[in-house]
Amino acid sequence: MKTMPDIDQTIEQVARVLKDSKHAIAFTGAGISLESGVPTFRGNDEDNIWSRYDPEDIEISRFMSNPAKSWKTIKDCFYFFMQDRHIEPNVAHKSLAKMEEKGIVRAVITQNIDNLHQEAGSHRVIEFHGTTRTATCVRCHKTVEASQLDMSQKIPSCDKCGGLMKPDFVFFGEGIPSEAYSESMNEAEKADVCIVVGSSAVVMPAAMIPVKVKQNGGVLIEINPTPSALTHQYVDYYLPLGAVEAFTRIGKAIKI
Ligand code: NAD
Ligand code: ZN
Repeated sequence: MKTMPDIDQTIEQVARVLKDSKHAIAFTGAGISLESGVPTFRGNDEDNIWSRYDPEDIEISRFMSNPAKSWKTIKDCFYFFMQDRHIEPNVAHKSLAKMEEKGIVRAVITQNIDNLHQEAGSHRVIEFHGTTRTATCVRCHKTVEASQLDMSQKIPSCDKCGGLMKPDFVFFGEGIPSEAYSESMNEAEKADVCIVVGSSAVVMPAAMIPVKVKQNGGVLIEINPTPSALTHQYVDYYLPLGAVEAFTRIGKAIKI
């Protein structure tokens, strides 16, 4: 029985492109973690975060003026949620780590704040939108592991000065951490291949990264069950699959 021969063919082509690459990078979004049980912000998953919470709660101005409301959403969406559900990396995160080990993938630039690439074993991870792993006091700038915060407080406070603690992920209205920004742009500059996984590619300036690779003559591979803002205009090899299935099949094809 012949099933979707064009996808089989694209998988073979993608495997070849990756094997022949000199500096492949990955650009990942919330979709890569969906099959680990982390909902996206605006994907089609019925669980998606903005169908249940107010995005303004993670706007920096709301956080500063009404931290109790913001912190409630932050705890529910990012901390209690991850703890309660025992979220773990999936085949897609693990394949990217394996590809790094084999010298195929040089860096993962992620919009995610869930730490799953690092847990899967990737070493070169650039967190474009920061992380939930640490938090910093807005008054004295002391940084602590998020696991050290007293989450029973309505507004977790700094153990040094009592100030408001803010998680180190990028809130709406905040800039991109400068090191992550420049490292990402350097990687995009060097890359001859970029695998875009699970990103709607509408959040700026993150979405500029794959565009930059393409404009420099690089090849774009995209894995997303639904076409993104990049698919029709920029992508060379589009796999309309979930991340787990796509990486399972690519992994077999390149024999890692
Ligand atoms: P998004 O929520 O805007 O889009 C998710 C994308 O994933 C969609 O294009 C959707 O079609 C795709 N998708 C759905 N199921 C998939 C699957 N099984 N495999 C592959 N792709 C799948 O996400 P975004 O583009 O990353 O941007 C939104 C912002 O949301 C980012 O800044 C990110 O930091 C943040 N975010 C992060 C997490 C996380 O850390 N896991 C979760 C939600 C949102
Ligand atoms: Zn402080």
